[in-house]
Amino acid sequence: NNYLAASERYDTMQYRRVGNSGLKLSALSLGLWHNFGSVDPLANQRQLLRHAFDLGITCFDLANNYGPEPGSAETNFGRLYQADFKPYRDELIITSKAGYTMWPGPYGDWGSRKYIIASCDQSLRRTQLDYFDIFYSHRFDPETPLEETALALDQLVKSGKALYIGLSNYGPEATATMTTIFKDLKTPYIINQDRYNMFSQEKAKALFPTLAETHKGAVVFSPLAQGMLTGRYLNGIPADSRAARKDSPFLNVEKVEAQLAQIKALNAIAEKRGQTLAEMALAWDLRQPVVASVIIGASRVSQLDDNVKALDHLTFTAEEEAAIDQVLA
Ligand code: NDP
Repeated sequence: NNYLAASERYDTMQYRRVGNSGLKLSALSLGLWHNFGSVDPLANQRQLLRHAFDLGITCFDLANNYGPEPGSAETNFGRLYQADFKPYRDELIITSKAGYTMWPGPYGDWGSRKYIIASCDQSLRRTQLDYFDIFYSHRFDPETPLEETALALDQLVKSGKALYIGLSNYGPEATATMTTIFKDLKTPYIINQDRYNMFSQEKAKALFPTLAETHKGAVVFSPLAQGMLTGRYLNGIPADSRAARKDSPFLNVEKVEAQLAQIKALNAIAEKRGQTLAEMALAWDLRQPVVASVIIGASRVSQLDDNVKALDHLTFTAEEEAAIDQVLA
C-alpha cells in the first residue's frame, strides 16, 4: 500500500504567486476543517490527500482546533504524512493556525504570546512536523496588543517553527497595523486568509485593496459556501451532506433552503458557461488577481476532480458578471 505520487502531478495545476513574495501556491488548496476528524474514516482521508497531491494540490490547510474532536485533524494528517508524504515534504505547503478556543483556561485562546507559542508547539507534535510553511493568527484579538501577537508570530519564524506568517479574520485596519509592525521586524508575513464566495464577499472585498497596496496575497476559504455553491443541494438535501450532518454546526438545512432559488439561478449561469456550479464558484474567486489560492473542502475524491476543472475556464464576460450580480442582488 505504498504511495507513489502521480508523475504528471505538476502538468495541469496552476501555481500563483502570493503577493510579491517568493512563494507560489497551487490555485486550489485542500482544507482539513471538515472530513478529517476522529469521527471520519481514515481511509477516506488518505484517499483525499493522495488524490489532491496527485492533482498538483500542494497546499494543505490545518488549524489547531480542526476535528472534531479538536486537534484530531492534525493528528490524522500527521499519521498520513508519516505513511505517505514524508518523502514529499519539500513539495508541500502545510499550514496551521492558533486563535480559536483550544484548551481550557485563560491560555488556550485568542492572541497572547503564551497561547500562540504553546499552540504551535502542540500542532507540531500532533502533525509530527518540524515546521509549518505558513503559521496564521486565526483571528483578531481585540484585547491583546497587536505588537504582542506579532512578536510571538515573529518568534515562531526566528525559532524555525514557521517559514511564513499569515493573518486570518483580521479587518483592514488591524491588517494595516500588523503590516507595519511586521515590516519593522522583517517578519516574512505574506498572506491573509478570509472567507470569500458569491454569498459572502463583503469582508474579503474590504481587505483586498489593503493587501494589493502592500503587495500581500490572499487565500480564501469556503469558496463553495460550504457546498451550497455546488450541485450538492439542487435536488434536495442528501443524508451524507454537510447540511445534514449533525457535527457541522455552521451549515444546516434551513440555510440551504433559504438560498435555494439563488443556487438554482447561479447553476443556470454556470451551465451556460459549460461549467458545474462548483467550477464557476471557484473561477469567480480566482478572477481576483490578489487571490493566490482557494481553499476547498471535500468529502470525496470526485469533488476534487470536479473542482480542479475550474481552471479550464477562469474568465468572466461583463454579461456573466452582471447576470451573477443580478442573482445576488
Ligand atoms: P467549501 O466552501 O469548499 O465547502 C466544502 C464542501 O462542499 C465539501 O466538504 C463538500 O461538502 C462540498 N463540495 C466540495 N466540492 C464539491 C463539488 N464539486 N460538488 C459538490 N459538493 C462539493 O470549503 P469549507 O467550508 O470546507 O472550507 C475549506 C477550508 O477553508 C477549511 O477546510 C479550512 O481549511 C479553511 N477555513 C478557514 C477558516 C478560517 O477561519 N481561517 C474558516 C473556515 C474554513 P459535503 O460534505 O456536503 O460533500
